[in-house]
Order: sequence, then C-alpha cells, then structure tokens
Amino acid sequence: MNRIYLDNAATTPISAEVIDAMVDVLKINYGNPSSTHSFGQEAKILIENVRRQIADYLHVSPAEITFTSCGTESNNMIIKSCVNHLGIQRIITSPMEHKCVAETVMDMKKRHGVEVVYLRPDHNGDLDWQKLEEVLQSSDKKTLVTLMHANNEIGNLIDLKKVGQICHDHKALFHSDTVQSMAHMNLDLSEIPIDFASCSAHKFHGPKGSGFAFIRKASGLKGIITGGPQERTLRAGTENVAGIVGLGKALEISLKNMEAYSKHMQEIKEYTKNQLLEKIEGVKFNGRSAEADQSLYTVLSVLLPFKDPLIGLKLDMKGIAISQGSACSSGATKPSMVMMVLLEEEEMNTTTPLRVSFSHLTTKEEIDVLISALSEVAAQFSIEKTNIEHR
Ligand code: PLP
Repeated sequence: MNRIYLDNAATTPISAEVIDAMVDVLKINYGNPSSTHSFGQEAKILIENVRRQIADYLHVSPAEITFTSCGTESNNMIIKSCVNHLGIQRIITSPMEHKCVAETVMDMKKRHGVEVVYLRPDHNGDLDWQKLEEVLQSSDKKTLVTLMHANNEIGNLIDLKKVGQICHDHKALFHSDTVQSMAHMNLDLSEIPIDFASCSAHKFHGPKGSGFAFIRKASGLKGIITGGPQERTLRAGTENVAGIVGLGKALEISLKNMEAYSKHMQEIKEYTKNQLLEKIEGVKFNGRSAEADQSLYTVLSVLLPFKDPLIGLKLDMKGIAISQGSACSSGATKPSMVMMVLLEEEEMNTTTPLRVSFSHLTTKEEIDVLISALSEVAAQFSIEKTNIEHR
C-alpha cells in the first residue's frame, strides 16, 4: 500500500540532503566543540556558521541565538527564566497555546504564584487586541505576554509586529512560540518588538531533537540547565553538532525554496478546500484556516459534518496519516483545548475535526485519495442518518 503523509504540522520527513550533511558531521566532525584542539574547533566552527545563518535569516545578532533540543525546551527555558530570573509576576496568554507553553505557564502559577490572565478567542480564534491593552494597563505587575505566531491546530496567524508594539508600549516582555512559522515565513525580528521566540528543526524537514531560542540580547534571560559554559552558559551540555548542522541545512533549503514551496502549498490547500466543499456537503473549516491571508499555508483545519471519533484510525487503515488535532492531543478521546474554545457543545457532539497539514512534497493526487476516502465515510454516515430518519 502506498502510504500518504498529511500530518506535516506534527513533523515533516527529513530531507536527504539534511541526512547527508548530518552523517558527514557524525563521521568526520566528532570533536567536542569545547575542546581546544583542531577536532573540537572544527565542530565549533560548524555550530557558529549555523548560528550566523539563523541570525541573518531573522536579522538579529548571532549572540541572540541559543541552540536547544527542541521547541518545547526553548519555550520552557524562556517562560521559566522570565519568572525565575527576570521577576515576571504576571503572564498574559491564550487558551490556544501549545501544551509546552500552556503547561509551563500553569507550572509557574502553581510553583511561584504567578498571576495568569487568559485572553478569550472569539469563534474564529481571533484575539481582542483592545482587551490586551486594557489588561496590560490594569496592573503594574511585571508582565510577560506569550502568544503563538501560527496556531498548530488551525493555522491562525497573529500580527507579531502589532502585538509586539502593544507589549513594548506597556513595558511588557513579549514571547511568541514561532515553532510552526519559522522557516516557512520571512521573519525580520529587527522590525518586530519581540523579546523571545522559538524554533524546532523537525517542522521544516530537519532532524528531531534540534531547535533554538531567540533571546533578545538586552533581556538578561538566564538558562535553566546548569553545568558547563556552552551557549554562553544559557544552555549547558555538549552541543548536538550533527543536529545543529541538520537544522542549518534544513533552514538553507527552506529559505532557498520558500517562494516555490509556499506557492505550491497554498495551491494544494486551496485545492483541498475546494474539493472538500464540492464533495462533502456541510463541511466547514475551523478558525481562519480557510482564509489564505490569515492562516499558515501548511494547515487546513476541517470540521466534518458527522461525528466519527474513529476517523483517524479509518484513514490510517487506508494508508492516510492525518491528525484530528495536534500530535499531542491525538489519541486522546477528549477534544483539544482549541476545539473546545472554538466550538459550541452541540457542534462538538455532531462533528469531527480533522487537521490536514501539507509539505512541499504533498501532491494533488494524494489529496484526491483523501477526498475519496472521506467521501466514503461521509456517505456511510448519510445512509445511517437516512435509515434512522425512516425508522
Ligand atoms: N509549539 C508548537 C506550536 C508546536 O506545534 C510544537 C510541536 O508540535 C511545539 C511547540 C513543540 O516542539 P518540539 O516538538 O520541538 O518540542
């Protein structure tokens, strides 16, 4: 069976060029970057080259990039250190954040008594920026605002510049989980008043276990892993040289092809949307997902007009890998927090969310297979519904 992968927001297949670059490092550049001999220094140079490459992409200084093991670690480090070292007493966030932000914020509340304020999204997943200003104005507490750039379940984008400016005007620190948008969009952080951001290589055809945190130089943030002086003491531990080189190679490929890749995915997303509308009566899309200018082109969040908790399994049996929500909430019978925020209870009991997420490798033929599988399931539900009505 030819399998079809439509879960690219969970992770992407690693590219062959990335693997080659990493294997070279594993075989040849195995020196410890902290060693002063040539083996060590060669490995160190590889790391610094990637750091400079990332800094060029984001228009920041190389010293503002700290390599980590993943997006989760970057977000943990930023939020925890803001509380532990920068005296943050209040965090403003939303219920639509990824678990690694949401749980860390809750942890800061439980352990350190940090006040947490949630901005309520509307039924489209939009946040009220006027409300953000009001909340910021309402207290003198030292505040961190943490709001993700692109939502991993519905693809909704926020305007980083606008939100950053509001935070800056009210002297609050601003962190954005940019894991889904890094390397998929042009991000010029010299133009955006943002203090912290995060990245994970496996979201753009790089390796798992490799990411970085952007930490604005003047912020004074400290690391949470203590030990050696690696990453200017912000992240102790011998560096994952092959992982960092893999991240660099994946970023290079993404940036070189960004125009072509994004155009391709936008077309595929539009095609998927139109095919679904044509073939599945009553289908809807969640949040801003179906609006090209307000959502990330990699994600289409679908709301199927029937309740089928086994849809993921049924599609998997047909060789189609797809998520019902984010990877972290898939497998759970409970609806995701994002869906609970967006949908009315009645809607939740009669529909099924499905997240179709694309890469530059996704083809229209694969989408046709998905649509035909979904049409079959929809037809079964429609027959069952008619039988019940005629009983
Ligand atoms: N933030 C967002 C928005 C994500 O989608 C993910 C991964 O699903 C993460 C953070 C966590 O990244 P990682 O898998 O590198 O820990």
